[in-house]
Amino acid sequence: MSGTLYVVATPIGHLGDLSQRAIATLKQVQIIAAEDTRRSGVLLAHIGHSGCQMMSLHDHNETMVSRKIIARLQQGDSVALVSDAGTPLINDPGFRLLQLASQHGVQVVPIPGPSAVITALSVCPLPCQHWRYVGFLASKSSARRQQLQSWLQHAEAIVFFESPHRIRKTLEELTELTERRLFLAREMTKQHESFLQGSASDVLQQLADPPKGEFVGIIEAGEAAVAQYQHQQVLQTLLQELAPAKAAKLAAQICGGNKKHLYELALTLDPKSQRN
Ligand code: SAM
Repeated sequence: MSGTLYVVATPIGHLGDLSQRAIATLKQVQIIAAEDTRRSGVLLAHIGHSGCQMMSLHDHNETMVSRKIIARLQQGDSVALVSDAGTPLINDPGFRLLQLASQHGVQVVPIPGPSAVITALSVCPLPCQHWRYVGFLASKSSARRQQLQSWLQHAEAIVFFESPHRIRKTLEELTELTERRLFLAREMTKQHESFLQGSASDVLQQLADPPKGEFVGIIEAGEAAVAQYQHQQVLQTLLQELAPAKAAKLAAQICGGNKKHLYELALTLDPKSQRN
């Protein structure tokens, strides 16, 4: 019988964020496939686990090493996949391995935990209920502008990674491209964790020069999504006391929206209407 492939999330800074289940899994498997074996070695030393076989799996050897790992899984060994920090595959290696595991019918078990994306969203005070994750922005200014222009046409909030040496340039470009506000999360869960928010130019002014550390940016949702969110909030409150038609009429007076659209939205939010 083939072994199990565990996809294990590890801390994005604070070692205390490694889950009990992640520790137990890392101690139990025969092989740990790590993006950088030295970095993961530090984590393993922290949990008092040494002597385990490690394989280095990174962007430049992923196909070859993934095949070797599949062979070991087929021999019955269990494998844990970890990346340098956070959740594997989220802008980290592992996709090829997961493809092969699926093709070969290998059992895959996620061991969830930290990710910079979700961590930033979890403390973002700007509207971002619906969001689009875009990973790292393009390194060339013209390509980056094009990407941003295209994403900004949509109402969802935009979640992106950016490097310290490009973040100022990106903020300058955003200043020209949008009035949407920005939330910038820096060094989350680490000693110099900090959060900035405001227009892109506000954030630019608050940002240290030169900027240091790791960054996640969140561009707030566009107006359509914000309006939808506000309508939902108002309707949900009114629906506690009123029927959908009355709630929609009052919501239209309060928020200035279209009564028919608000009524349709009220029907989707009203638990009594959904039962019918
Ligand atoms: N797989 C990782 C995850 O789930 O968080 C993301 C890997 S990606 C290669 C690394 C990028 O994530 C960094 O360049 C930075 O943009 C963001 N990041 C990672 N850790 C962070 C932290 N502690 N604070 C802010 N951003 C972070």
